[in-house]
Amino acid sequence: MKTITIAKGDGIGPEIMDATLQILNAAGAQLNYEEIEVGEKVYLSGNTSGISDESWDTIRRNKIFLKAPITTPQGGGYKSLNVTTRKFLGLFSNVRPCKSYHPFVATKHPVMDMVIIRENEEDLYAGIEHQQTDEVVQCLKLISRPGCEKIVRYAFEYARVNNRKKVTCFTKDNIMKQTDGLFHQVFDEIAKEYPEIENEHWIIDIGAAKMADQPEVFDVIVMPNLYGDILSDIAAQISGSVGMAGSSNIGESCAMFEAIHGSAPRRAGQNLANPSGLINGAILMLKHIGQGEVAAKIENAWLKTIEEGYHTYDIYQEGISVEKLGTKEFAQKIIQNLGELPSTLKAITDVKNETIKILPYQRKPNKEKTLVGVDLFVHWNGLDVNNLAEKINTKINSDIELSMITNRGIKVWPNGFEETFCTDHWRCRFKSKSQSMKNSEIIELLNTMLVSHLDIIKTENLYHFDGKQAYSMGQGQ
Ligand code: NAD
Repeated sequence: MKTITIAKGDGIGPEIMDATLQILNAAGAQLNYEEIEVGEKVYLSGNTSGISDESWDTIRRNKIFLKAPITTPQGGGYKSLNVTTRKFLGLFSNVRPCKSYHPFVATKHPVMDMVIIRENEEDLYAGIEHQQTDEVVQCLKLISRPGCEKIVRYAFEYARVNNRKKVTCFTKDNIMKQTDGLFHQVFDEIAKEYPEIENEHWIIDIGAAKMADQPEVFDVIVMPNLYGDILSDIAAQISGSVGMAGSSNIGESCAMFEAIHGSAPRRAGQNLANPSGLINGAILMLKHIGQGEVAAKIENAWLKTIEEGYHTYDIYQEGISVEKLGTKEFAQKIIQNLGELPSTLKAITDVKNETIKILPYQRKPNKEKTLVGVDLFVHWNGLDVNNLAEKINTKINSDIELSMITNRGIKVWPNGFEETFCTDHWRCRFKSKSQSMKNSEIIELLNTMLVSHLDIIKTENLYHFDGKQAYSMGQGQ
């Protein structure tokens, strides 16, 4: 018997969780449940994180968490519990299988069967945002080597364990050469360790277009957090319904399983919701904890129910469906079908106990890091950038030169275009002529700017790592 933590959540959450637990119990899952309260009630009681300290203790003790969707109240500074849980518990990998069930669930993509593996902890979801000037706000995109190595290795291990043939990587590294560039570089490095699995990289924009048009050409796709968030919802939707897909969030010691959809408050309390997303989340959980046989039994009964045409309202179709069922009745049909196999849809015959272990990250030896310059970001309301350059240039010492000024990334000095639209947010790039700068020189530089009444809002150092430039050029430079 394995004790897991469950949370029934908000909206349709309690109904789909009850249906899922009934199926788990009827199928003989070896589980005990410890229930915690998370979500709306907890938020509205004044806890902005939506979860109490005792509930964290329960989750950390049991390690496995099956969670129904929750409602994050609008406004009021409430933090998304999903994002917090993933990050607090180090659940670095979000796995979302997206499959179509043609001809029983309407879809334009009858042979789609892919898995999106989304990095879950970093990228723009670090949530580090600032207003810097009247006109400009910023969000920091953080990508780490450990983050990339863990998720890419997970994707290849997932492919190996599940007999998947290809892993595709989506990034936008033609634009973000440092951040997405690192993700792509790590993908290429790790792919070499799995010669039996095909690998490829697509630029995300055309990759996403291809995925929406011909998802059958993809198998496993791995990508950074934001792209994965967006594309996995699209993939679930085009497979038939957002109500169908489950997902797992896997860390080194804990894991959380859920439906990909939200709490659908308008459908709550009416016995209407499709419990399939949470059921599929529970199937992923059973495989993860070594109860693969029960997982296969439930999945086959669920597939049989779908192909018999017993459907909830969201996938009901005249001519294909036999009967429109409520949440409870749909669960009962699945229970009746336990032990049966689907006849048209592919039955699950090879039992998978999918415990994927990723070795802890080994820190690499430090590279030689040389400070070669600094970007000073200035809040300045002037219009003619030559005035700004003049103000700066008269004051700096002989080894440091102002090499360019950009506005929202595009070079506007020297030799800018009159047509370029400028805001009140300027980046002034200073370089050391001798290719080596001291931190104390940055402080001197800041002092000189202060004397000139320039409003410095941020500094960003420019480095070479092992002699290689490790910052982007200005656009148009
Ligand atoms: P949603 O996924 O709840 O609903 C989107 C649409 O899909 C609605 O039309 C809904 O009726 C339908 N739908 C979703 N699940 C269904 C199911 N199981 N059966 C039948 N129809 C289903 O997304 P939303 O409306 O944007 O968000 C509602 C709330 O859910 C918000 O408070 C949001 O913060 C929260 N949310 C929670 C999670 C989570 O806990 N994992 C994820 C996403 C959204």
